[in-house]
Amino acid sequence: MYDVLVIGAGPAGSNVSCQLSRRGFRVKMVDLKERVGVPNHCSGLVDKRVVDIVGEDLVIDRPSAAEISTPLGSFSLNSQRMRVVDRVSLDQKLADIAMSEGADLSLMTMLTELHERDNGILATIKSKRGFERVEAKYVIGADGPASSVRRSLGIRAPKLLSSLQFDLSRRSDRVKISLDRRKTPDFFSWEIPSGKEVEIGASGVNSEAVVKGMVGNDTVVRRRGGLIPIGPTELGRGNAFLIGDAAGLSKATTGGGLYAAIKSGDALSSAIERGDNVLNEYEKNWSSSFGAEVRRDYKIRKLLDRYEKHYGVWVPIVSSSLSGINKIGDVDYPSKTLLYMLYSLPLRFPLTLMEFVSRSAST
Ligand SMILES: Cc1cc2nc3c(=O)[nH]c(=O)nc-3n(C[C@H](O)[C@H](O)[C@H](O)COP(=O)(O)OP(=O)(O)OC[C@H]3O[C@@H](n4cnc5c(N)ncnc54)[C@H](O)[C@@H]3O)c2cc1C
Repeated sequence: MYDVLVIGAGPAGSNVSCQLSRRGFRVKMVDLKERVGVPNHCSGLVDKRVVDIVGEDLVIDRPSAAEISTPLGSFSLNSQRMRVVDRVSLDQKLADIAMSEGADLSLMTMLTELHERDNGILATIKSKRGFERVEAKYVIGADGPASSVRRSLGIRAPKLLSSLQFDLSRRSDRVKISLDRRKTPDFFSWEIPSGKEVEIGASGVNSEAVVKGMVGNDTVVRRRGGLIPIGPTELGRGNAFLIGDAAGLSKATTGGGLYAAIKSGDALSSAIERGDNVLNEYEKNWSSSFGAEVRRDYKIRKLLDRYEKHYGVWVPIVSSSLSGINKIGDVDYPSKTLLYMLYSLPLRFPLTLMEFVSRSAST
């Protein structure tokens, strides 16, 4: 019998397995992939704080600015903190560290059934060798946006946006974001440099047409896709817990979820170490580390859904607050930027504020 069965060896699963193995727990990890991290669906754009955790050796690009364009104007945000990491190597590195701490990893192995018992869980996993039963005290769903653990627990799924990306063989030194809800009603389209290539992509309705329209004369090296969860879910039930994308913990405004995948595993492993009322403890730890920001970000997303199309109102606000935004801008904490803009709004733009309020009232 294991102490913990972890479903999924992505960044969330490998990090939590490492943390728990280090604390002396017997951990079994399973992943349906043949090779950890392959295929990869992620652009790998992170803040420097993620690199401080996972290591400088994974960095493949350092974009110097992000150009944001909207139908009514464009602006450029500078950043010394943006990094692009090699996502396949990141997953492999974290899984290797977890194994070196003692976690036992089975690849090409998937969870097929999960049952709660008095003092733990009973799972059925399927591999080339057939079906096998695994008993453990706890199970952790680190199995991504379409989580089977979440489904087995009857926890409501977040909204899932399907995304499409093409890698092109050219270089760039900046991130480009196009916000145009007429073309991408659910999200935005992006271009992210990654060493010798750039990745272009879009999420939600219309992604395919938008991404094909961005290719121009460049050569498409590869095509890939993935799901972005929008909005956090319950964090678990009984002896079963969800972390990372399985719990919808990526940022609802940008889709970035690597930092949350790692931090949620940190919060859960501390709770498991304490041992009493683990779910309650996990919720508390998560809320006081990064969970409050994820919830705020989801609220911002709902605001943007309502107001994003009023580019004529907010583009001037952002443009004139640029020097301040460049100082406090942080991809992991978008609420800081929004609060900065809101504070400067009434002082500097009384007329804009009135327009915003009257437009809001009429929508
Ligand atoms: C298009 C796109 C671009 C993105 N770009 C960025 C970005 O630039 N920066 C950023 O921070 N985030 C980005 N993200 C988000 C980021 O990829 C996720 O937040 C991150 O991968 C979450 O890690 P995770 O470990 O929770 O889940 P995942 O990385 O999805 O890992 C889940 C693992 O579980 C395994 N699994 C699933 N089901 C089962 C099962 N039943 N049994 C066994 N194993 C199973 C899978 O094979 C997988 O290995 C992007 C996402 C998408 C879709």
